[in-house]
Amino acid sequence: MIRIAVFPGSFDPFTIGHESIVRRAESLFDKIIIAIGRNSGKNSLLSIENRIKLIGDVFIDNDNISVRSYNGLTVDFCKEVNAQYLLRGLRTAADFEYERAISQVNKVMKPDVESVFLLTLPEHTPINSTIIRDILFHKGDARKFLPQGIDIKNYL
Ligand code: ADP
Repeated sequence: MIRIAVFPGSFDPFTIGHESIVRRAESLFDKIIIAIGRNSGKNSLLSIENRIKLIGDVFIDNDNISVRSYNGLTVDFCKEVNAQYLLRGLRTAADFEYERAISQVNKVMKPDVESVFLLTLPEHTPINSTIIRDILFHKGDARKFLPQGIDIKNYL
């Protein structure tokens, strides 16, 4: 059976922190589906369609990495795409506590989906989408925090 992982998030925008988690997880799974949740209450900067386009451009040369959006519960989406693994990144102890609760509740709901966590690289620890969104909102230069070659103007 092929190992399929879902990497869920809002990815508004997709940062080098997200990219690094996906690239490091590539050798662990046969297929990674980056899944953009449509149900988050956050104020958004990029439309879902442009987030899909941006992430698709980052992984244009990787046939094993795809991007989708979904509604509803992440574990239900995992079932829909036959994913056995949920991939998440951990930056801080606060992330850990938040992720622990979600993962343990997910495990009760869908025992056959395993959550897998990768610790962020030290240099990516302070990067989060909210801060990058703020920089972009105020027309700042966020290139250092975005995947190489991505010109955010093409996705706004
Ligand atoms: P959410 O809104 O669910 O937190 P995000 O798009 O912010 O979604 O993040 C998706 C996943 O990527 C989460 O597992 C998060 O911990 C992880 N992540 C976010 N930023 C980084 C980073 N800088 N380094 C590593 N992992 C990260």
